[in-house]
Amino acid sequence: MDKLEFLIPVYNEDTCLDHLMERLDRVRRDFTDVDLSVLFVNDGSSDNSLEKLIGYTQKYDYVRVIDLSRNFGHQFALTAGFDYCEADYVCIIDGDLQDPPELIKDLYNRAKQSSINVVYGQRSARAGESMFKKVSASFFYKLINVMCKIEIPRDTGDFRLIDNKVLNALKSMKESHRFIRGMVPWVGFKSEAFYYERDSRHAGETKYTLPKMIRFALDGIFSFSRKPLRLASYLGIIVALLGFLGMTYMIYLKLFTNTAVEGITVVLTSIAILGGVQLLILGIIGEYLGRIFEQSKHRPLYVINEIYGGEDIDLS
Ligand code: UDP
Ligand code: MG
Repeated sequence: MDKLEFLIPVYNEDTCLDHLMERLDRVRRDFTDVDLSVLFVNDGSSDNSLEKLIGYTQKYDYVRVIDLSRNFGHQFALTAGFDYCEADYVCIIDGDLQDPPELIKDLYNRAKQSSINVVYGQRSARAGESMFKKVSASFFYKLINVMCKIEIPRDTGDFRLIDNKVLNALKSMKESHRFIRGMVPWVGFKSEAFYYERDSRHAGETKYTLPKMIRFALDGIFSFSRKPLRLASYLGIIVALLGFLGMTYMIYLKLFTNTAVEGITVVLTSIAILGGVQLLILGIIGEYLGRIFEQSKHRPLYVINEIYGGEDIDLS
């Protein structure tokens, strides 16, 4: 019998957890073809989430909880979960019930029937999300696919079922800036989309505020593409070309006409353009340099405070 594990990152979701656990338990009772377990990662919640999660480990023997020492962020909570998953298949879902846990059955059957390593949930509808989020997400996926060599399917989040080959490959990737929905396609293997309607949050607020979303998007682009660096060369060529044309035009004016060239305007405009381009490029180089700096520290990606539940599961 295959072992399946739900991996669920939790950050201040105490208003969703009871309902989530109820639904997970129902799924487990209905889906008896597999050995189903649940791994929660508490990502430094400051509400009652941890107490609730510990309660579930006492009530259900198939629930484990990894409690991180502080809030490390969604992608790091998932990373911690990967490292402690020992199942044949892992299904990543949000803790807010946006991704219906009942779908695990369909995802698993699809993976099994066609021997597929990754079945990712692609949203055919996104309930309860603002126009801004939908438009910015669509723009982001277009941009990242232009920038990167690997293809990142649009309208997918981290909701997916992966098998242990993919899981092991992900475990070996120790990069300090993590964009898991890009890392999974990078790893390769066979993958297929599974269309589903994404529900709105059961309760509570999104944890991805605008600045967090922008940082996440930049992580995606800078971790998977060197194209922004090439922008420096392109801009350099364009600015140099413009400068050369301007100079030729001015020499022409001087030699063949009586029009005087306003020196100060030309100088100021050139300085502004050059200064702007140089700062932009410096910023881009700084982004990569900062990432090399972070990576070179070789810090652990997360720190665990405590692990609850799963005494009968041998992790050695
Ligand atoms: N999350 C987390 N750490 C964070 C932010 C979010 O573990 O720092 C969890 C959160 O509890 C949820 C999942 O990651 O289970 C996705 O977050 P959210 O639902 O807020 O994102 P959205 O669905 O709005 O993009
Ligand atoms: Mg969500």
